[in-house]
Amino acid sequence: MKIDLKNLNIRKAHDSMKSGDFSARELTEAYLGVIKEKNSNINAYLHIFEENALKQADEADKRFRDGTAVLLTGIPMAIKNNILVKGEITTASSKILENYHAIYDATVIEKLKRAGAVFLGGVNLDEFAMGGSTENSAYGVTKNPYDDTRVSGGSSGGSASAVAMDGALSALGTDTGGSIRQPSSFCGTVGLKTTYGRVSRYGAIAMGSSLDQIGPIAKTVDDAEIIYDCIKGEDKMDSQTIPENLIKEPKIKEKMTIGVPRHFMKDGVDLDVMKNFEESLEKLKSLGHEIKEIELPNIDYSLATYYIIMPAEVSTNLARFDGVRFGLLKEGENGIQDYMKTRAVGFGPEARRRIILGTYVLSAGYYDAYYNKATALREIMKKDFVKAFENVDVILTPTSPIPAFKIGEKANDPVQMYLADIFTVSANMVGVPAISVPSGFTEREGKQLPLGIQFMAPWMGENVLFKIGKDFLNEK
Ligand code: GLN
Repeated sequence: MKIDLKNLNIRKAHDSMKSGDFSARELTEAYLGVIKEKNSNINAYLHIFEENALKQADEADKRFRDGTAVLLTGIPMAIKNNILVKGEITTASSKILENYHAIYDATVIEKLKRAGAVFLGGVNLDEFAMGGSTENSAYGVTKNPYDDTRVSGGSSGGSASAVAMDGALSALGTDTGGSIRQPSSFCGTVGLKTTYGRVSRYGAIAMGSSLDQIGPIAKTVDDAEIIYDCIKGEDKMDSQTIPENLIKEPKIKEKMTIGVPRHFMKDGVDLDVMKNFEESLEKLKSLGHEIKEIELPNIDYSLATYYIIMPAEVSTNLARFDGVRFGLLKEGENGIQDYMKTRAVGFGPEARRRIILGTYVLSAGYYDAYYNKATALREIMKKDFVKAFENVDVILTPTSPIPAFKIGEKANDPVQMYLADIFTVSANMVGVPAISVPSGFTEREGKQLPLGIQFMAPWMGENVLFKIGKDFLNEK
């Protein structure tokens, strides 16, 4: 039987496995077949966990037989290769971790394993999740399944393109400044950046610790919700996770007030993106939601402050890669030389750039001028969001100011690349959850390229995002 992977979602797959239309093994084999067919061109997967995936699928079939299967049992997933899966190679797309095999499971993986999910493989990213196109990967770019001359976005480009090419039913990504949402908008998938502290990062290779979150990349909002429900929760191994007794979800309304910070959408936004955004607003209105223009007075500073705070944290987090404890070692005459050689060979240009920037903004004399100012502004931005959410239920922007761009187009211009994060970084800076949902297509050179819009909700408001996201996509 040929499984219709294109129109599959988690509930449909679950029902089919339950009723015996196909087995978890057949489903896993179907995805492995697509990976074999398409991955040599798209390069979404860096490592295929074929043997273990098939074992997990057989386990899942057992659970269907003995009646202990849950929704995620037997669901084949792609895992961003900066999330540890015990025994599997995990490089974060860096040469410095070339041969590193994870020695434990990330908390999210442990939870998914308990649910019986199947891990198809580790997927590509920009080195240590730094970038917006996967061009910073030490293992080649991931191409966009809609047009293979274009990027898949980043840094979770492997996750989004794996789902978009039907090489996985869903995926996990990480998001520090947009890395789940932007590739989702480029590849036509749904991507959720969770509230800071809602999902444990234990076992995710750290980039910017006050910004990083793990979240799902999926084909539907419902699928994203199912995965979120499985991976969320307090974890004593991540001290930043929010204790369960402090979780207070906002109330869900049937008809919402949607805030649009128009003052923030001026220069540099592609005309087709803007047109699609206006059409999306019309659709939301026709569904009975109210659109309200809002001001986020300091949001213009979000990108500049992000590119101070994030590199500061990157430079600190990446200090642990010293050739002694993990991965690559290039020996010199003494310890210091070992360290310098290993890092010079092991890190790519973008990682080096951010380590240098981060070290600079944290150095004596510049700390006050840059880092301290940025953290002060971050607090002010948080207040702006608190105020905005007094009047609106969600805030809406395009996910990315541009559709998927050509491979190489921005690779030599880091500032242009950073500008593509304009709409996504503020959710990380203030910690609110945000979801990117597909909003249509634009045509470029005869190819249809997906676009996405981004809803942001108040802290712990994932429930609100699922509601409005399903409404927008007409999901039941
Ligand atoms: N593109 C952004 C950056 O380069 C976001 C990265 C991320 O979210 N991991 O920092």
